[in-house]
Amino acid sequence: MQQFLLDHEPMVRLGVFAGLLTALALAEAVFPRRARRQRRGWRWPVNLALVALGTLALRLVIPVVAVSAALWAEAAGWGLLRWLGLADGAAFAIAVLALDLAIYGQHVAMHRLPWLWRVHRVHHADLDLDVTSGLRFHPMEFVLSMFYKVAVVVALGAPAAAVVVFEVVLNALALFNHANLRLPAAVDRILRRVIVTPDVHVVHHSTLGCETDSNFGFNLIVWDRLFGTYRARPAAGPVAVTLGLPECQQSHQVTLPRLLAAPLRGLGGAPSTTAMAKPAPEGEPDAP
Ligand SMILES: [Zn+2]
Repeated sequence: MQQFLLDHEPMVRLGVFAGLLTALALAEAVFPRRARRQRRGWRWPVNLALVALGTLALRLVIPVVAVSAALWAEAAGWGLLRWLGLADGAAFAIAVLALDLAIYGQHVAMHRLPWLWRVHRVHHADLDLDVTSGLRFHPMEFVLSMFYKVAVVVALGAPAAAVVVFEVVLNALALFNHANLRLPAAVDRILRRVIVTPDVHVVHHSTLGCETDSNFGFNLIVWDRLFGTYRARPAAGPVAVTLGLPECQQSHQVTLPRLLAAPLRGLGGAPSTTAMAKPAPEGEPDAP
């Protein structure tokens, strides 16, 4: 199985990505959670241009990707998991969990450090949330994330197949939990015991600072619960919540040129300085 993944990695990645993007875009059209503020014809070109530029930046700036770093570490005998002499299955499972924790930590840092927040704010400046929001990051964030991931993969000695599985799952769940999708309340309630659902992640895109600084996880919900950053629902509810940055609520403030210039010029307003959010009492999500 692991060899199959490595042999067919591009096909697996592209298949899951294209299939899920299409399926979720269709599902959003039939079961939308919130009314859109901006037309898809305005937002989608911006979000898709950002992911295209991000992919190009990765090709130009960083010579290795996480999987090739894992293969290099394997050939060199590098990494904590390898030095511990763990069985293959244990190393695989621990690597996937550790990578998810590392990405949670990176996301917290993106909010806590002002210079990283200037880059990450581009993701939060989206005035709506839908499946394309999961791809919408500044090209600089694509590059910084890959440097960080390569460092974590080499330090861990993560098996290459575990890196592929993690990246495919991360990509799939990022599409899913940004989707403007109305799930039955019972399904949301069951799923959110384990993974980040759209109604969990929408809290993170609220204009309220204390809500933005919660629900940092992209895959497993355990890290937010463990570190006290879990918030069950936004104060206004998952339908009425105002999305985006409080200082950038107009379409003309979030055009592609302004978003690309944001790390240097800013988008206006102050960086996120909200203290670590207190966990809200566990509550039932709104009925769809
Ligand atoms: Zn964020």
